[in-house]
Amino acid sequence: MRLAHEVRRTVGTLADGRRIIYYDDTEGAPERRAVDTRDLGPRELAGHLRYDALLGDWVAVAGHRMNRTLLPPRDECPLCPAGRSGGASEIPEADYDVVVFENRFPSYAPVADDDVVAPEGYLHRPALGRTEVVCFTSDHDSTFADLTPRRVRTVVDVWADRTAELGRDPDVAHVFCFENRGEEIGVTLHHPHGQVYGYPYLPARTAVVLARAREHHERTGRLLGADLLAAERADGSRVVLTGEHWTAYVPYAARWPLEVHVAPHRDVPDLVALDDAERDELAVLYLDLLRRLDRVHVAADGGRIRLPYIAGWHQAPVRAGRDVSRLLLQVMSVLRGPGKLKYLAGSESGVGGWVTDTRPEAVAARLRDLA
Ligand SMILES: [Zn+2]
Repeated sequence: MRLAHEVRRTVGTLADGRRIIYYDDTEGAPERRAVDTRDLGPRELAGHLRYDALLGDWVAVAGHRMNRTLLPPRDECPLCPAGRSGGASEIPEADYDVVVFENRFPSYAPVADDDVVAPEGYLHRPALGRTEVVCFTSDHDSTFADLTPRRVRTVVDVWADRTAELGRDPDVAHVFCFENRGEEIGVTLHHPHGQVYGYPYLPARTAVVLARAREHHERTGRLLGADLLAAERADGSRVVLTGEHWTAYVPYAARWPLEVHVAPHRDVPDLVALDDAERDELAVLYLDLLRRLDRVHVAADGGRIRLPYIAGWHQAPVRAGRDVSRLLLQVMSVLRGPGKLKYLAGSESGVGGWVTDTRPEAVAARLRDLA
């Protein structure tokens, strides 16, 4: 199947100066010229970062996020186009295909409130960077798994475009494209959407993964990500789906009740490096995986349970370790069974000591059976 197609990119500005970018894949879609007439005042500034000396890591302090929109009624959805959501909408147009805009309540932004003085002995810095919202469809009641392969291909191109553009920002050290789905995960808006964070530092997990990849490369001359993929493919017991360009598998030491990694067969550092054939197959394979996830658990009344999940793209940092890093999609869920959530309790939250009660091989077998 060939999905590559023309995507028209239109850049605009919202009432408070934030950027909005339309990515239209529908042939004959109208020009996106609508003006945002809301009276928003000046844009919200990002806050600051505090250095956690105990762990050698940063924490973003963004007080204004307490005021952000929380599960609004449907007719006040800020992600529905203005044609359907009136004054509450962030999108001035009457409709859109895929749209990206800067978060109104940003954890990181190109402008930050730097009016902070750290007490003696402590470190802080402005939370410069980017936080963007990606709306996958204008259909409020849809979900990523309901998108067409063609639309998912557009979303892959959008993720790659955002990774490339945010990576050119001197304030951005790492780009993370992710989606949270389900109230169990803490989603504050039901409309299908994801986010892109451009961090001004390497987040803790990224830093650990990079250090491990470097150590492995120095010792063996090979990429750790490639070796892990080869081991999973050779073993096969945890492989869920495989294509010409991608393999989806439950990792050997999965931490979450349900966790799947999706890795490209070719060594690529990030989404930008994917070619047309890889992007096309990813769109089809990822949809297949998400549709299986929504069939894993069945409610007591026989109804389907849409699996709450987090899906995040681990990419090479912008300016570090690009020669040893390898692209990886991680999909994970806290749902152990109908109505049963895994909480990050004492051991996980306290010391990072993970305990799981699901066998990765059994999870993979279940997902294979759901074809
Ligand atoms: Zn909506």
